[in-house]
Amino acid sequence: MSERAFFIDYSRCIGCEACVQACGECDTHRGVSMIHLETIRRSESVQTAPQVCMHCEDPICARVCPADAIKKTPDGVVQSSLKPRCIGCSNCVVSCPFGVPKYEAEIDQMMKCDMCYDRSSVGKKPMCATVCPSGALTFATMEEIQRTRRGIPINSWKFGKEEVKTKVFVMVPRKIERVDIDLVQITSTPSPLQDDPYDVALMLEES
Ligand code: SF4
Ligand code: SF4
Repeated sequence: MSERAFFIDYSRCIGCEACVQACGECDTHRGVSMIHLETIRRSESVQTAPQVCMHCEDPICARVCPADAIKKTPDGVVQSSLKPRCIGCSNCVVSCPFGVPKYEAEIDQMMKCDMCYDRSSVGKKPMCATVCPSGALTFATMEEIQRTRRGIPINSWKFGKEEVKTKVFVMVPRKIERVDIDLVQITSTPSPLQDDPYDVALMLEES
């Protein structure tokens, strides 16, 4: 693995869907796009936010898999499910705090972003990062990011009481060190919070 890392900057996304198209062209996904392009408070804003697998340090998707179908490489990339093992139970789909894995009914298997491992493991950019015209998805060194961006990269999250560290970084305003998500508030409060559980709208306002 190269010293380059993956960075998401939601504030730069222009919703062009180039990443969605490019992801679908990756040979390892068999024509299926694995990136999610989310909308943020759709009734109030045209802002979109791309979501790739965050490649958690201790991936809950792999922990809950009863078939041991999700493997993490020594360099920290959490792979999509292994076909001979996956039983299509969708435990991973419901457990992922970032809503990443998809159950593909046609093949009865979970598929998800693997950071285009055939490319990123040899230092090449994942497909989405090669086409993103605005730098919302970037595969670069930490030094390049710190030199060229206003915000800071973070990879610390807290979902309720569960702390999660990820291999993928998200650009946030300088005063934020960790994104805390109040799960009780999300499940008990009507929208707009439900539309934007990570409060990306607030990050965008402050960036
Ligand atoms: S973001 Fe979701 S799918 Fe990706 S490693 Fe973490 S738990 Fe697994
Ligand atoms: S759907 Fe497949 S990869 Fe996901 S938990 Fe079930 S067996 Fe594992």
